[in-house]
Amino acid sequence: MASGGGIYRNGTHRNSLKGTTTTATASTDRPFSVNSNPSKPAPKNKSSSLAGASSALRKSSPGSLGGGAAKDDAGVPGRVRVAVRLRPRNAEESVADADFADCVELQPELKRLKLRKNNWDTDTYEFDEVLTEFASQKRVYEVVAKPVVEGVLDGYNGTIMAYGQTGTGKTYTLGRLGEEDTANRGIMVRAMEDILAEVTPERDFVSVSYLQLYMESLQDLLDPTNDNISIVEDHKSGDVSLPGATLVEIRDQQSFLELLRLGEAHRHAANTKLNTESSRSHALLMVHVKRSVKGREPAHPSENGNNTNMAKSLRPPLVRKGKLVVVDLAGSERIDKSGSEGHTREEAKSINLSLSALGKCINALAENSAHVPVRDSKLTRLLRDSFGGTARTSLVITIGPSPRHRGETASTIMFGQRAMKVENMLKLKEEFDYKSLARRLDIQLDNLIMDHERKEKAFEVEIGRITTDAQNRISEAERNYADATEKERLKYQKDYMESIKKLEEKWMMNQQNQGSERKEQMIHTAEEVAELKKLLSKETSLRKEAEEEVNNLKSQLAQLKMSEASANSEILKLRKMLEGEISQKEKLEGEISMLQSQLLHLSFEADETRRRLDRGEPGKVTGGLDSLISQVRPQLKDSGNGEKASVAKLFEQVGLQKILSLLEAEDADVRIHAVKVVANLAAEETNQQKIVEAGGLKSLLVLLGNSDDETIHRVAAGAIANLAMNEMNQELIISQGGISLLSMTATNAKDPQTLRMVAGAIANLCGNDKLQTKLRGEGGVKALLGIVKCGHPDVLAQVARGIANFAKCESRASSQGSKTGRSLLIEDGALPWIVQNANSDASPIRRHIELALCHLAQNEVNAKDMISKGALWELVRISQDCPREDIRTLAHRTLTSSPTFIAELRQLQTDY
Ligand code: ADP
Ligand code: MG
Repeated sequence: MASGGGIYRNGTHRNSLKGTTTTATASTDRPFSVNSNPSKPAPKNKSSSLAGASSALRKSSPGSLGGGAAKDDAGVPGRVRVAVRLRPRNAEESVADADFADCVELQPELKRLKLRKNNWDTDTYEFDEVLTEFASQKRVYEVVAKPVVEGVLDGYNGTIMAYGQTGTGKTYTLGRLGEEDTANRGIMVRAMEDILAEVTPERDFVSVSYLQLYMESLQDLLDPTNDNISIVEDHKSGDVSLPGATLVEIRDQQSFLELLRLGEAHRHAANTKLNTESSRSHALLMVHVKRSVKGREPAHPSENGNNTNMAKSLRPPLVRKGKLVVVDLAGSERIDKSGSEGHTREEAKSINLSLSALGKCINALAENSAHVPVRDSKLTRLLRDSFGGTARTSLVITIGPSPRHRGETASTIMFGQRAMKVENMLKLKEEFDYKSLARRLDIQLDNLIMDHERKEKAFEVEIGRITTDAQNRISEAERNYADATEKERLKYQKDYMESIKKLEEKWMMNQQNQGSERKEQMIHTAEEVAELKKLLSKETSLRKEAEEEVNNLKSQLAQLKMSEASANSEILKLRKMLEGEISQKEKLEGEISMLQSQLLHLSFEADETRRRLDRGEPGKVTGGLDSLISQVRPQLKDSGNGEKASVAKLFEQVGLQKILSLLEAEDADVRIHAVKVVANLAAEETNQQKIVEAGGLKSLLVLLGNSDDETIHRVAAGAIANLAMNEMNQELIISQGGISLLSMTATNAKDPQTLRMVAGAIANLCGNDKLQTKLRGEGGVKALLGIVKCGHPDVLAQVARGIANFAKCESRASSQGSKTGRSLLIEDGALPWIVQNANSDASPIRRHIELALCHLAQNEVNAKDMISKGALWELVRISQDCPREDIRTLAHRTLTSSPTFIAELRQLQTDY
């Protein structure tokens, strides 16, 4: 079979059949391909075998592959796509490994594969596709091969390879013919089906070579005598070709299947002869696809063949060439180098060579290494233009489930992992094919002329036949129609006459039966109608009235609504006006208070300016009251120089009256400012009299009573305390109800500083001999004792000072004889607090109390109380421990001059 048909070898024409080179063969004797019209019977001699003319055979020439002006298109980057496929357990494994888990676990949705390292540990790998043992051949083809095949049809080279241990399904995946069950067809068969479905036999050209590579020798599986084929590389284009290999044109699937069968048979025979197994060799199927590029192809000459079309058709067609290489690699398992399989060491090395070179190239490509050792083996040289680089490449790595082959499986997986890193640069191969253009044009022209003639003749015959046929049919139809019409007409006429007759009879009968009955009915009906008419007119007038009423009510309602709306809008308007008035009022109030503070500010400024002008100084004082105060304060503190007087004068000029009037201002801020100014003024002795004269003291006392603001209370109390340093003012304060106002302020105070001011004011009052009784009568002592609750040392110091002052005045009055009886302090219950704080940690408190005790002790009337309340012991302690000598001496003198104390001490046998 191989020797028949048109096989060229090494450029030698071995058969007289001309194949595609003659017009007749190419056009009319085209084999029955998958694309041709199935209704046409295929010529018998064409589909029988590839040995016949059905397979037009060619020899590839270096010129067509390497010498063409391959277009240097910009490459499209891609990557070698790697899928892993797991073979199902076979019968033997099912028995032998029944108790063991598979060595791999697939996660196809995640495109992951887990390789079991041991019982508790796995390694996980990712692939472009993970195909389980259940993956169909169709699916495998679609994910692994289809994209590559499509690329080849578009003019790119492509490679599909299977790599794996022997027996894992490489041949099953690639080479299955699917004769027993079409579902089992492998990649080679399916790829060719897709290619043939896509190409146009008249314009495109598909051819294949089928080879085996064993021990670095390339054998032609389509012609076994052809067994050391050389590889030719075009260094310019990088194309690889095998000029010596048989190249068979494929026009239909059947001839391709026969070719594969033939190749397989030759492979088996060759391996038997070589005493080896097919698993040791690589099988390579090369499919060349040459396609005219659509849109650039020559136009068909029209019937009258005008010149423009001819000129167009003379343009050479643009062709795209793609080469698909399907490689069923030798088993990846290591060959025993010892040569135990009957090979010598050298043979073993040579058998391994191509596969290990492929591994090395993949490593180099994956690592982007500058040198890729393609020249090391025939396989890598052959794949030079189809793997990595400029081609689309898919690799299926096949693995078995058996845990016994874990090592081989692992190395297969690693091979796949490295291949995943190989980048492709796709290159489109297009060139102008002038020779085929001329040939094709000839063929086309002949075809068209013949076709035309044939068609014209057939057309004329057909027209004649159709015309006569049509005429016959028309006349027959006309005849039939006339007959049928006449028949119908007669039938209808008869029916019509009969029905008229029947109706007439019926009518006559009805007339006779119903004559009298109907008369009576008519009279009755006329009466009823008259009555109904009457009722109707009555109802109508009633309805009209009701409608009028309704209309009336409606208009009333509308009026009411209108007036309500206007009243509402009136209310709204008034409300708005009211709101306007309120906001106006608030605004005016705000403005008034603002104007008040501005007035104060302005009067300060004016006075300052005037003063400066008087002094002959330029400029003016800016800023508000606060800044003025802050300017003034340091000057006030800076006593002892002439400035003080001038400050006081300044306020005088501003108008004390004005400031005092602001103490009653409505605005709380203004009041606070004003009271602060007054307090600052009151701190200066020189101002105190003026303030009092201007009624300031009274205003301050009023503030204590009226204001709710604690700041005002604090500042006012401070001012009062300052004013209370003057004897005359003290009288005024008490006579104007100051004690009760101050004690009320103390009761309400939350701030210890307020209490300090109040206590300070009362303490000052306590120092006035003339006011003792009155002060106590107004509750001054009680107020002081109430304040001690606060506990703040500053406050307590003021209380202690007040008590000391009071005690001092009392002792003075007693010694002058103007006072008799117990101390008012003791009367008001001050003694326990005095004793309690006599030894206070705070020295100001202690000192005042020590003095107070000494003063109290000087009046013999107080002695008994002092003894009973424990004051005696405090006096003893003061006389011994007080750090101040004058107090110590005073205490001692007091103790030794009181007979009661002496008697007591003696009675207690205290040696004093
Ligand atoms: P290889 O070419 O890798 O040595 P084969 O393709 O010859 O392996 O397969 C070995 C055996 O396993 C064959 O009997 C084949 O039918 C079977 N086999 C391989 N893959 C599958 C598969 N996916 N489903 C069913 N059987 C398979
Ligand atoms: Mg195989």
